[in-house]
Amino acid sequence: MIAEESTTRPIASCEAEVIEADVAIVGAGLAGSLARAVLARAGYRVVLIDKRAIPPDEFRVEKIAGRQIDILRRLGFIDDVEAVAAPFDRVLNIRDGRLIDIGVGRSYGISYANLVNMARDLTPDTSSFLLDQVTNVSCSEDRQQLTLASGRRVVSRLVILATGMAAALGYSLGMRRQMLAARHSVSFGFTIARPDNAPFDFDALTCYGKRAADGVDYLSLFPMSGGMRANLFMFRDPTDPIMRELRRDTRRTLLRLMPGLETYLGDFQVVGPVQNWVMDLTVTEGHLQPGVVLIGDAYQTNCPAAGTGVSRLLVDVERLCTLHVPRWLETDGMGTEKIAQFYSDRDKLAADQLSLQLARYRQDLTSNTDARWTMQRKLHFLRRAITHRVDRIHPGWVMRVRSALR
Ligand SMILES: Cc1cc2nc3c(=O)[nH]c(=O)nc-3n(C[C@H](O)[C@H](O)[C@H](O)COP(=O)(O)OP(=O)(O)OC[C@H]3O[C@@H](n4cnc5c(N)ncnc54)[C@H](O)[C@@H]3O)c2cc1C
Repeated sequence: MIAEESTTRPIASCEAEVIEADVAIVGAGLAGSLARAVLARAGYRVVLIDKRAIPPDEFRVEKIAGRQIDILRRLGFIDDVEAVAAPFDRVLNIRDGRLIDIGVGRSYGISYANLVNMARDLTPDTSSFLLDQVTNVSCSEDRQQLTLASGRRVVSRLVILATGMAAALGYSLGMRRQMLAARHSVSFGFTIARPDNAPFDFDALTCYGKRAADGVDYLSLFPMSGGMRANLFMFRDPTDPIMRELRRDTRRTLLRLMPGLETYLGDFQVVGPVQNWVMDLTVTEGHLQPGVVLIGDAYQTNCPAAGTGVSRLLVDVERLCTLHVPRWLETDGMGTEKIAQFYSDRDKLAADQLSLQLARYRQDLTSNTDARWTMQRKLHFLRRAITHRVDRIHPGWVMRVRSALR
């Protein structure tokens, strides 16, 4: 959809004290940068503000797959991802040294900093990016105002908060993070290589934990520029001494936690830093306010093991920027009756709920030791192994039965 001519005037010079825009987006992570690209492409005057010129080399999402690829394709960005990411199509799934099944389908490995840079570069108009920190936000049913650390001000019809896990601006508006699960999961990110830099014998490999007591969900190995990347996801007390062992002697601790892994990896070493995150599951309360809308992690955080953070933020961007914002800007005002349409959007609600459900499911499937989940865990891996074997003998048969039963 193309915006009305009245909304397509260029943004006033960024040197000006007051910058006017239709939409001001705070936070140029993945959510904010993609939101700017979609809205700018539709002709709206957008200003994107971030305090960091270069996205930091932080461990966040490093693998794009499945539904995420579908939405990126619909939004017209998949070629841009493809240009900077390492593609792979086949994942060996193993547990306790044995093959469970083989995942087939396109995925991409990419560092978060490169992904965000790609998303920032989708909008060639550099004047719509302000390198600054938003220190205050004031919203109303009509005009929204941002105060920046440099002293500049941004005035807009709508503010999109895409500030990730930084809660200060929302807090200043009276929004609060409701804790759903404190220290829900622990993630490690690092790179591995063979001593002679020889390639590994697989495109990508996922090794699931064996014992519930270890709290290891899975280790995911996949190609990324710079080598074979490893993401380890655990549900375990972050103060447990195993965390220190994993940081200090990653290789040995991994092999101890995952018997049979060495058969697939051969001789390998950890190269570069081992990055580590402890994740809380939170959702923002008090978010329904005039003139401002929250997307991505700013609204709800995710379990990295469930891998739903990017699906959620892509649904947010697609629904908000291709449907709701264009409608809202057609008429005067930005009251809560408009904002509520986004928070009650069926696709958004479904993506948010699925993210929380999967977070709990992965935790129980990995580490819940009661009888029901112990049985469920056994059945889960058994079902996958049987399906894989049947599929090898009669290719496509399982898929056809599944579709017939749906
Ligand atoms: C270890 C880890 C692994 C993960 N793995 C996966 C995975 O495999 N799959 C998956 O789908 N998801 C995964 N996720 C989740 C995913 O990375 C996040 O959902 C996603 O990065 C959130 O993007 P965002 O744009 O909402 O926030 P961010 O990328 O955090 O962006 C927020 C931006 O706001 C800026 N900002 C904040 N406050 C201000 C201010 N006052 N003024 C100016 N700028 C400001 C910051 O500088 C930052 O650039 C993982 C997360 C972690 C932590």
